[in-house]
Amino acid sequence: MNSYTHMVVGGLCAGIPVAFSIAERRLGFSMGSHTVYPIIGLFPAIIGALGPDVDMPNSRAGRKVRRLLIVSLVVFGLLLAFFYRNNVRFLLTTFFALCCASLFVFKAKHRRETHCGLLMIALFLPNIYIARFTQASPLTNSLLSVWLGFCLGWFSHLIADTFNRKGVPWLYPFFPGYFRFARIATGAKGESDFRTFCIAFFISVYVTIIIFRSNIASIFF
Ligand SMILES: [Zn+2]
Repeated sequence: MNSYTHMVVGGLCAGIPVAFSIAERRLGFSMGSHTVYPIIGLFPAIIGALGPDVDMPNSRAGRKVRRLLIVSLVVFGLLLAFFYRNNVRFLLTTFFALCCASLFVFKAKHRRETHCGLLMIALFLPNIYIARFTQASPLTNSLLSVWLGFCLGWFSHLIADTFNRKGVPWLYPFFPGYFRFARIATGAKGESDFRTFCIAFFISVYVTIIIFRSNIASIFF
C-alpha cells in the first residue's frame, strides 16, 4: 500500500479509542495508575502508520519516511532528555534501546524485519515499562498516549499490507512465509477502493460505538 493509504488507515484506527472516549464522555482511560488520552495518540498513529516502510531507502516515499522518523526520534529523545534530566538510568536505557532499534530498523530488508509481529511486540514493551515503573504524572500520561498511538499506527500498517499482493511476514524470524487476506496491487484501482471501504467501515464502527455503547455495555455488565 502507498503512504497515503497507510496514513488514512492509521488515523482511522486511532479514531476507535477516540470514539470510545466520546461515547463514555471522558477524555482519558486508566492504564495501571496512569491515564491514556486517545486524542493525543491520533497524530502519532499517523506517523506510526508510515513507520514500517522505513525499510525502503531507495524509493522517494521510503526516504521521506526515513527523514520523518529520524526527526520524530530526535524530537522525542530531546523531550525525554529535558523532562527526565534527573533520571540518568532511565535516559541511558532509553538511549540504548533507541540505538538498538535504529540499527535494527535501518539494516532491515524490505518488508521483513519492520513488518513482523516480533518487532510489533518489542515496540509495545515501552508502554508496559512506562505504565508499571514510572509514576503517573501529566508527562508520563502524555508519553504513554503518544507511544500507544504510534504502536497502533504501526499495527494498522501491518494489517493494511496484509491485504497487499506480497503480504506480511507476521511470524518472521520463526517462520519465513508471508500472510495475506487479499491481493491488492499498490497504486492500483483496488487500493483506492480499499481506502474507500476502510473509511466507510471505520465510520460505521464509530457510529456503532457512540450510539450503541451504553446498550452493548448493559448487555455484558
Ligand atoms: Zn509496508
